[in-house]
Amino acid sequence: MKSLKLFAILFFSLLTLNISAQQKKYVMVIHGGAGTILKKNMTPEKEAAYIAVLTQALKAGYAQIQSGKSSLDAVEATIHILENDPHFNAGKGAVFTHDGRNELDAAIMDGKTLMAGSVAGVTTVKNPISAARAVMEKSEHVMMVGSGADQFAKEAGLEIVDPKYFWTKERWDGLQRAIKEDSTKAVLDHGNKKSELLGIKNHDYKFGTVGCVALDKAGNLAAGTSTGGMTNKKYGRVGDAPIIGSGTYCNNETAGVSCTGWGEFYIRNVVAKTISDLMEYKGLSVNEASKIALDKVGKMGGDGGLIALDKKGNVAMPFNTEGMYRGTITADGKIEVSIYK
Ligand code: ASP
Repeated sequence: MKSLKLFAILFFSLLTLNISAQQKKYVMVIHGGAGTILKKNMTPEKEAAYIAVLTQALKAGYAQIQSGKSSLDAVEATIHILENDPHFNAGKGAVFTHDGRNELDAAIMDGKTLMAGSVAGVTTVKNPISAARAVMEKSEHVMMVGSGADQFAKEAGLEIVDPKYFWTKERWDGLQRAIKEDSTKAVLDHGNKKSELLGIKNHDYKFGTVGCVALDKAGNLAAGTSTGGMTNKKYGRVGDAPIIGSGTYCNNETAGVSCTGWGEFYIRNVVAKTISDLMEYKGLSVNEASKIALDKVGKMGGDGGLIALDKKGNVAMPFNTEGMYRGTITADGKIEVSIYK
């Protein structure tokens, strides 16, 4: 009788231990951009809409993982939801260049094989994340740009849209505001030399780049990022998102990373690969490494955030802006979505 009791206690404590381990193990983390996101500027309806679509995106990726699909499938499915929603600066909600065009960037990376694919400056691919995946899986290259990348996506059988598909009133108005503010600013302070050199005078024009890192049942990580870049960017400008190692990186041995923020600073600091290197060569945790890499960006004058997930299911989501749309889901399906600090 006594041993039966002991057995029961042991059994239930092991069960509880396993449940709490499951709860702590994250299988996906997403972001929907960082910037001056303040509660006072948000309506309850808008906030609810953001939370709803972030939740839907997490569920879409989780369904892939649960059904035994790869982390790449989970990343792609999740990012499709965010690209198809006009709230985010990716796919349908992409921001405008100075010339009034939508030029989209995206990247995806497989942590198991270190294969990667990316596209920059595409204008007709409905879901640039799928174009990035096609570059990775169906070509011998890593990165394709402009009309060639559009052409490749078409030949790969992806959905092609008229560039008008990306037109939204909110982003168009955003461009008009940016043009006006930038010219006023240039007159007032003779331009901020550094940002002028970068071709963007007011950098806070970039809400809603999207990213996802997933960990599948086989223990493989994948990371992806998709963006319209920065409002009022110059012709041909490419941000960090499609640059492997800067805005996107993934390695099963360390972590998957997707960044968002003032891209030029993320490129110059090679942020995503730095995080992986700090983990690989210095033995830092995903949290410590992410903090160090983002601090560097901040010290140089850049702003933004990032998400990272390691092979054990630990996440980091640091940002140095007022807010970052972000969310996680654990192995047992618990969703958490946040916006502000
Ligand atoms: N990092 C993106 C870029 O510079 C923008 C963003 O994440 O908001 O293109």
